[in-house]
Amino acid sequence: MNYNSTRGGEKNVSPSMAILKGLADDGGLFMPEYIPAFDFDIRSMCGRKYQELAYEVMKLYLTDYTEEELRTCINNAYDSKFDTEEIAPLAYADGAYFLELYHGATIAFKDMALSILPHLMTAAARKNDVTDRIIILTATSGDTGKAAMAGFADVPGTGIIVFFPKGGVSRIQQLQMTTQKGDNVTAVAIHGNFDDAQTGVKKIFGDKEFARELADRHVRLSSANSINIGRLVPQIVYYVYSYVKLLEAGKISDGDKINICVPTGNFGNILAAYMAKLMGLPVAKLICASNDNKVLYDFFETGCYDKNREFVLTDSPSMDILVSSNLERLIYLSCGCDAVKNAELMSELSSKGRYAVTKEMKDSMADFAGGFATEAGVHDRIRSLYDATGYVIDTHTGVAAAVYDDYAEASGDKTVTVIVSTASPYKFSKAVVGAIKGELPEGADDFEIIEELRELSGTQIPAAVAELKNAPVRHTAECEKTDMKETVRKAIEWVS
Ligand SMILES: *Cc1c(COP(=O)(O)O)cnc(C)c1O
Repeated sequence: MNYNSTRGGEKNVSPSMAILKGLADDGGLFMPEYIPAFDFDIRSMCGRKYQELAYEVMKLYLTDYTEEELRTCINNAYDSKFDTEEIAPLAYADGAYFLELYHGATIAFKDMALSILPHLMTAAARKNDVTDRIIILTATSGDTGKAAMAGFADVPGTGIIVFFPKGGVSRIQQLQMTTQKGDNVTAVAIHGNFDDAQTGVKKIFGDKEFARELADRHVRLSSANSINIGRLVPQIVYYVYSYVKLLEAGKISDGDKINICVPTGNFGNILAAYMAKLMGLPVAKLICASNDNKVLYDFFETGCYDKNREFVLTDSPSMDILVSSNLERLIYLSCGCDAVKNAELMSELSSKGRYAVTKEMKDSMADFAGGFATEAGVHDRIRSLYDATGYVIDTHTGVAAAVYDDYAEASGDKTVTVIVSTASPYKFSKAVVGAIKGELPEGADDFEIIEELRELSGTQIPAAVAELKNAPVRHTAECEKTDMKETVRKAIEWVS
């Protein structure tokens, strides 16, 4: 199986090379030349471990990895970093199943892919005789940075430098990054906002002269962002797993269709669900849940993608996105993998900020149902779910739960539904406790609110949060937004 760029400029790239490169040279995203069908009976996976299922699914995409390489990557990723052997447990509450993807090192769903990506990358480097050190460069608005740092920490042959906006992330998020252990990691606060950090990182990636200078130092920069095919493929696994869990529990019969509802930002997670469906997983609707930044909802309604709108800051910050980069892969699939057509639409997106798909393309996306939830709707759903069942969800999952309720009521659709739960409520304690109680105790600090959440939910505070209180701060570097390249030059020493 080889990979092609969605924009046509690069073809027949091996899986391991696609993972090493991240983005195609023409700015497109790598896609497999066909979507493989399962070569096993889903029912036969009942009783098998997450790691075994992961192998069966991923081997269909990562065909140039040997069985031993792939199994080693999987076993190094899905181990005791997760606080449950199930890795991705399914919890029933108030009419739907919540697929909890937050049991990894940083208690959010990005761990599902970022705990395996470093291993896939180092194996890919070995396969392709790349001996340079791989340094990951990332700009983060909070979640990705920490998950990437945790994933790459102490992985031999790699290093990671994360830029976050000083004052632009929550106190907990900042502590998560600045206290991260590992000799090959660092986080730098930039004097600017997330866009400044993002723009600076992109500029460094595009700097050919700098790349040559780094090559002389035996360093190659790479990115861990969600368009890397090495993040997409591992995400297909848990959708199949959730289906197997429902089968095991006798909640569905073999072949029954389920709905999947995903709180969506960059469109990576829900795209993985769609790929699972194309591979043969019995899925009826894919419900794409947005917050007030409802550009995807509007797209599924009208067939027109338009990012020219006000950017809204919400309590589900990982979904505050106006350009969902992974949507490009759906666009590409929807026009029969016509790279010329896709490239044309993407160039309209960058020149005008909008594009419209054809009627045929829109019709081919009929499996998707878009929905959005307002901030008040999210808070109401977090509270009503808690009142009805005692089960506590975070704000991102709250978006999905609110959207699912609206969908079920409007459509009358009674299909068994899996709602993807993307973060532990402890990661967004303030908003969650505020939603449940209607107010926050005056002047309460983050750790007091976390304690309050523990009492409300009757759950244990995850180690990832408890540790932060007394963890020493290890990364204190700051830089001006104009100084990022110089900082990278120096930081490569710190992470080597
Ligand atoms: C990244 C993230 C999302 C959005 O996922 P996409 O794959 O970008 O659509 C939702 N919830 C949480 C908590 C996240 O960290």
